Amino acid sequence: MHEFSLATEVINLVQREAQKRNAPVVNEITIEVGSLSGVEAGAFESALKLLSEGSIIENAGLNILRINGIGVCKTCSIEFEMMQRMESCPVCHAFPSEINGGNEFRVISMTIE
Ligand SMILES: [Zn+2]
Repeated sequence: MHEFSLATEVINLVQREAQKRNAPVVNEITIEVGSLSGVEAGAFESALKLLSEGSIIENAGLNILRINGIGVCKTCSIEFEMMQRMESCPVCHAFPSEINGGNEFRVISMTIE
């Protein structure tokens, strides 16, 4: 369950930021989760809810932006939507392809009081 360690990291990061700005409450956190990042958004959300109990982000809203995976074929250079990390090119079936998006996992914004 590495969603739990990611949730811990996110909470620490947000708490540090809030402290820096002397903010008592965090209203909203927006996180990007790429479909190839290996993070299960639902599991992450549950972990964050559980771990944030009693912290300043306890009542913060969580927005999860899912980013589609993008692969680029090394042989014919077309770009295609990648559903999993090991996917061959839909046109020429070359393998492996380069991953050009979908690995994201990051906090992109937070709203604090
Ligand atoms: Zn190709």
